[in-house]
Amino acid sequence: MCFRYCECMTDSDLLESRWAAISARLIADGADALILSTGFDLVYLSTYDARRSERLTAFVAIPGATAAPRLFVPKIEMPEVPRSPAFEVAGWTDDEDPVAMIADLIQGAQRVLVSDEMWAHYLLRLKALMPDTQFVSLSDSLGGLRSVKSDVEMQALQTVGTLANDVAAQIQRGEVPLVGRTELEIADDVIARLLAVGHEQVEFCIVASGPNSASPHHNPTDRVVQPNEIVLFDFGGKHRGYCSDITRCVFTGVVPDDVASTYATLKKAQQAAVDAARPGAALGDVDAAARSVIADAGFGDNFIHRTGHGIGTEVHEQPYVKAGNDDIVVVGHAFSIEPGIYFEGKWGIRLEDIVIVLDDGALRCSTTEHELVEVHA
Ligand code: ZN
Ligand code: ZN
Ligand code: ZN
Repeated sequence: MCFRYCECMTDSDLLESRWAAISARLIADGADALILSTGFDLVYLSTYDARRSERLTAFVAIPGATAAPRLFVPKIEMPEVPRSPAFEVAGWTDDEDPVAMIADLIQGAQRVLVSDEMWAHYLLRLKALMPDTQFVSLSDSLGGLRSVKSDVEMQALQTVGTLANDVAAQIQRGEVPLVGRTELEIADDVIARLLAVGHEQVEFCIVASGPNSASPHHNPTDRVVQPNEIVLFDFGGKHRGYCSDITRCVFTGVVPDDVASTYATLKKAQQAAVDAARPGAALGDVDAAARSVIADAGFGDNFIHRTGHGIGTEVHEQPYVKAGNDDIVVVGHAFSIEPGIYFEGKWGIRLEDIVIVLDDGALRCSTTEHELVEVHA
């Protein structure tokens, strides 16, 4: 299996197969060229995790061409660039103009797709050099370079999903002491557990207790967890370059009726979106499936974010499961389904699994208890 951090990632076969697949999508889109700058798209097609600086790094590829894509890098950084027959490396010195070099390579191109990370400074100059060319956002046109996962990537997401799932299960079993500890202490504990189960790094760890659970992206504080309240956990890490992301809430006591009934609505909404995440559906319909359940229960105004985000080598990437997104769900999409219901200043709940879209529907990467578990710890 080939992932970003394993040696066989430099395998040019893997890079060539990725480029062949992207190339076919570019041709179908009517694109004459692709320009990537630093970021995970570049890692995906070259394994090069380039430094982000004011100097331009650009991967320029022409779909269907016999020549390999060309990676323009500042000459001083050339020793850092991994080499592969899958692409050529061209260094530019400080007295050269990389934009002119790119314009020269793609001259005559009518439609050029450009990554979101390309500095406006360079893109505007390229536009000025090529006034007849249309430059288009890569994410708007292709819905992201990495949004459709290969079998190997789907496997990697399932593997890392299992790791985060294990830690969520530990919390639900009461193995992580809660009452009397601060959110920060609990977060440290959870981070240690995420690493212990096999993540190589932790990307984020939200521990939100009591009223803090009403803030979807709460940063853990020194608030001490009390009995009889919600503690919301949302965390994830990386294993072999791929990300996990899971949310579970627990209750430090006996769940009161109003919380129980609201949570039942949330769970039903999450299931509805998982059921709706089938090939051929629009991403906006998946969002609507969750949102309508919550709205019908009277909490429409309390679900204050999109239903989900794609995941892969980044925690948040294309595609986005949100209202109005009419891009179509396809086999190989991997995204979160994470509806939430929040009462500002009081409490909030969210339930999140990563799903992978297969022929017959969405497969959850995490299966630990979906109920609001009472934890007496
Ligand atoms: Zn989030
Ligand atoms: Zn999350
Ligand atoms: Zn998420």
